[in-house]
Amino acid sequence: MDKNHFHLIIIGSGPAGCTAAIYAARANLNFAMITGLEPGGQLIKTPTIANWPGEPEEIAGALLMEKMMDQARNLGAAILSDNIETVDLAKRPFSLKGNKAEYTCDALIIATGASAKFLGLPSEKKYIGKGVSTCAICDGFFYKNKEVVVVGGGNTTAEEALYMAKIAKLVTIVHRRDTMRAEEGLVVQLQKTPNIKLELNCNIVEILGDDRGVTGARIKNVNTNATQDIVCQAVFIAIGHKPNTEIFSKQLEMEHNYIKIGYGAATATSVSGVFAAGDVVAKNYHQAVVAAGLGCTATLDAKAFLAVLNLK
Ligand SMILES: Cc1cc2nc3c(=O)[nH]c(=O)nc-3n(C[C@H](O)[C@H](O)[C@H](O)COP(=O)(O)OP(=O)(O)OC[C@H]3O[C@@H](n4cnc5c(N)ncnc54)[C@H](O)[C@@H]3O)c2cc1C
Repeated sequence: MDKNHFHLIIIGSGPAGCTAAIYAARANLNFAMITGLEPGGQLIKTPTIANWPGEPEEIAGALLMEKMMDQARNLGAAILSDNIETVDLAKRPFSLKGNKAEYTCDALIIATGASAKFLGLPSEKKYIGKGVSTCAICDGFFYKNKEVVVVGGGNTTAEEALYMAKIAKLVTIVHRRDTMRAEEGLVVQLQKTPNIKLELNCNIVEILGDDRGVTGARIKNVNTNATQDIVCQAVFIAIGHKPNTEIFSKQLEMEHNYIKIGYGAATATSVSGVFAAGDVVAKNYHQAVVAAGLGCTATLDAKAFLAVLNLK
C-alpha cells in the first residue's frame, strides 16, 4: 500500500482531532492525524481551563493539549506535521495535498477548527506583529506596564482583557454596541478590575503607528460620528473566529461557512465517507469538551463506514 494512503485521515490536532485520533488508535484503525500549523489547536493560547471535566484544578491549555497529543501518540497514532492546502472529495479514495506531501484516504474526518477574525483595516495588516495581535496570551508579555486596546464584546474579548489587565497599565475595551455580549460572570470581573476601561458604541477606524509599531487607535462613536485617538502600544483583536472550511467549501454542504452534518450518521457530511467534528460544525458551541465529544463521535461514524467497506 502507498505509504501516504490511510484508511482514515484526521485533519486537525485540536481537541476534536486528538480525541478522534485516540478513538481511532484504540479501534486499531489504519489512520493518520495531520496537525496543521497550530498543533494542539486554539486551546494552546489559553492560560487556564477551568471547565475541562476531571481536572478539578485549573489546567493550562497548552498542557491539556500536550497530554491529548501524548495520549494519541502513546496509543500508536501516526501524527504528521503538515498543512492541507487542497482536497478532492469528488471520488474515493479522497486526495489531500499538503505543504509537504500528498495523501489519499478512504474516509476523512475534518477537525480544522476555527481562526481569529480581523477587522479588515489596512492599518491593521500593516502592524500585525508590530503591536496588532489576536492572542494576548502569546504576545501580552511584550506590553508590561503599557497601555493596550482590546477590541470586541464577547467572551474572548473579556478573557483577553482580564489577562492583559494583569500585565498592562491600562486596558481599554473598544466595542461597537452599548453593552458587552460576554457571560455575566466575566462582565462582573471586568467591572471590578480597576485598570480596565470600556469605550462602548465605538468602532476602531484606524490603527496608528510609526516605524517601531503601534502608537494608538482612532475610534469613532457609532451614534455621534465623533472620533477620538487612544494612546496605546498594542491592539488585541478579539472579535471572534471563523471556521477553517475554505478548502472544503465547494465540495461539502455548508451553512454560514460551517460544515453541515447529520447526513445519516451524526457527524456525516453531505459527501459519503467524509465526517466533521469540533468548531467547524458547532456554530454555537465553541467549547473544547463539545469538540472532543464530536471527535469521538466522528471516529465511531468513520469506523462504521470503513467496516461496510471491509476496511479498518
Ligand atoms: C482564547 C480562547 C480561550 C478558550 N477557552 C476555552 C475554555 O476555557 N474552555 C473550553 O472548553 N473552550 C475554550 N475555548 C474554545 C476551544 O479552544 C475550542 O472550542 C476548541 O479548541 C475547538 O477544538 P477543535 O479541535 O474543533 O479546533 P481547534 O482547536 O481550532 O483546532 C483546529 C486544528 O486544525 C488544524 N488545521 C486547521 N486548518 C488545517 C489545514 N488546512 N490542514 C491541517 N490542519 C489544519 C489546526 O492546526 C489545529 O490543530 C477557548 C478558545 C480560545 C480562542
